Amino acid sequence: MQDFESLDLIPEIKKALKEKGYTKPTPIQAQAIPLLLEGRDLLGIAQTGTGKTAAFSLPIINKIAREKVKLRPRRTRVLILTPTRELASQIELNIKSYGAQLRLSTKVVFGGVGERPQIQAIAKGLDIVVATPGRLLDLMNQGHIVFDQLDTFVLDEADRMLDMGFINDIKKIIAKLPAKKQTLLFSATMPKDIERLASTLLDRPKRVEVTPESSTVDKIEQSVSFVTKENKLKLLEFILKDDSINSALVFSRTKHGADKIVKKLAQASITAAAIHGNKSQNNRERALKNFRSGELKVLIATDIAARGIDVEHVSHVINFNLPEDAKSYVHRIGRTARAGRGGKAISFCDGIELSLLKSIEKHIKQKITVDDTHPYHADLSTFVSATKPVKNDKSKVSMSKKARRRRSFRG
Ligand code: AMP
Repeated sequence: MQDFESLDLIPEIKKALKEKGYTKPTPIQAQAIPLLLEGRDLLGIAQTGTGKTAAFSLPIINKIAREKVKLRPRRTRVLILTPTRELASQIELNIKSYGAQLRLSTKVVFGGVGERPQIQAIAKGLDIVVATPGRLLDLMNQGHIVFDQLDTFVLDEADRMLDMGFINDIKKIIAKLPAKKQTLLFSATMPKDIERLASTLLDRPKRVEVTPESSTVDKIEQSVSFVTKENKLKLLEFILKDDSINSALVFSRTKHGADKIVKKLAQASITAAAIHGNKSQNNRERALKNFRSGELKVLIATDIAARGIDVEHVSHVINFNLPEDAKSYVHRIGRTARAGRGGKAISFCDGIELSLLKSIEKHIKQKITVDDTHPYHADLSTFVSATKPVKNDKSKVSMSKKARRRRSFRG
C-alpha cells in the first residue's frame, strides 16, 4: 500500500493526517486498518514506535463519524485500556489530532488526579474513554460509567498490563462489557497468559505482527561505555555537556537513583527532571510536556514511568544502569529513532553489570560496540576473569544469585 488515499477513511481524517505530515501508513497501519474497517477483531503484536496508536484510532474515529449514535448519560462507545497515565494521555492527544476536523468527545480516566472532572465528562456520554484499569474500575463500581452502548474495546500493551499486576482489574472490567463488540488486543510480546486472554476475549481474530522485537534496534547507533559505578555520574555529565545532544532520555533502575541523578546534574548546571511513580501526576505531566517541547533537554526515568513515552525527537537514550531484563533494553532504546529517524543509545556498564550486557547482546543477536574514547573508560577485563564462574563451583554461583537478588531488591 502506497498512501492513505487508498484506505477507505473519511476525507476529514485524511486531511488531519496530511496536516500531521503522515504520508504513508506504517506496516501495522497498512495491515490492520482495512481489517478493522471491516469490523474484524484483531490481535496486534507490535510495540510502541510502530504506529499502532493510529492503527487502532483511525478506524475507530472513522466509525464514530460514519455511524452516528445518540449516547445516553454515563455511556461510552469506545473504551481504550492502557497501563500508564502517560500512555493514556498520549493516546488521547493522538486521537484528538487525528479527529481535529471532527467533533469527538473524549476523556482520559486515570488515578492520581481528582475524579470529579472525569465523572462529569462521562455523565454527558462520550465517544471515547481512554483509561488505566484502577480508576476505571473505581468509577465503574460506583456506577459512574456503564458499557451497554459500547461498540469497540481496545486492550493496549496487554503484556505490560500483566507485568504491572492489572490482570484482575482487567477481568472485572471485561466482565461488564457487552458480548457483542469489536475487540482489539495489542501486545509487544505474546506470553502464554496473553494467548489465553486473547482466546477468551477475541472472536475469530486476525493476527497482525510487525517487526519482531529485536529488529527495531537496527536503526539505532548503540554503544556501551565501561565505567566504574563511582564514575557513572561524571560520565553522564561529560556526555550531556556535548552540544549535539538535543534531547536525552536517561534510564535509572530506581526512583531514588533518578532523583539523585537530577540533583547531581543540577550541581553541574545541567537541568534535568525525573519521572517515576512517586512523582505527582501534575509533576510528571509538566516534566513530559517540557521535554516534548524541547525546553527540557534531559529527562530521567524509570522503566515503568517511561514505558511507551512517545517523544518524537529523543536523540539519545542513556542507560545509567543496564536493565535486568534484556527485553527492557529493547524497549528503552526504542524511545529513540522513532518513526524512521535515527538515534543513539549509550549504555553504562560497570563490573557487576557485565553479565546483564551479555544477556542483552544475546537477545538482540549483536555485539554492542565499546566506546573507550571517553575519559572515564574502565578496563573491566580484570573483573571479567575475577567473576567468571568456575564450573561446578556452587558457592560462587549461589553468591552471584544472592548478589543479583540484593540488586533487584534495591531496585
Ligand atoms: P506509536 O507506535 O503509535 O506510539 O507511534 C509512534 C510515532 O510514529 C508517533 O510519534 C506517531 O505520531 C508516529 N506515526 C504514526 N504513524 C505514522 C505515519 N504513518 N507516518 C509518520 N509518522 C507516524
